[in-house]
Amino acid sequence: MAGEAQQDCLFCKIVEGQIPATVVRETDTTVAFRDINPQAPTHVLVIPKAHYPNAAALAAGAPELAADVLRETQAVADDEKLDSYRVVFNTGGGAGQTVFHAHAHVLGGRGLQWPPG
Ligand code: C5P
Repeated sequence: MAGEAQQDCLFCKIVEGQIPATVVRETDTTVAFRDINPQAPTHVLVIPKAHYPNAAALAAGAPELAADVLRETQAVADDEKLDSYRVVFNTGGGAGQTVFHAHAHVLGGRGLQWPPG
């Protein structure tokens, strides 16, 4: 069922505390933690606690939760004192998605090129 924890999902395991992560923020519905392979001085992932495989499924299945995730990306940027930053939802393997639990990358703390690679 949409939103239910998946046994083999890495990020569901982080939500459940079964895999360690450096958590920087948590709400009733979301968790934000530092990416283990940071691509910028600030690289934080914001995830919904409920499992949706990507941002599109999250927006379609739980739009209020999608809004919670977006609000938290702003809160991370505020906490990290970023005035410029990038929010990325890789969606699909061809776009670089490797973990199929919706997540927003919050990247900042250095100049960012456009277009991304
Ligand atoms: O968008 P994508 O699916 O590639 O992003 C997954 C991200 O999750 C990667 O940036 C990876 O470094 C991160 N990750 C993590 N902690 C883990 C496993 C993956 O921060 N335990």
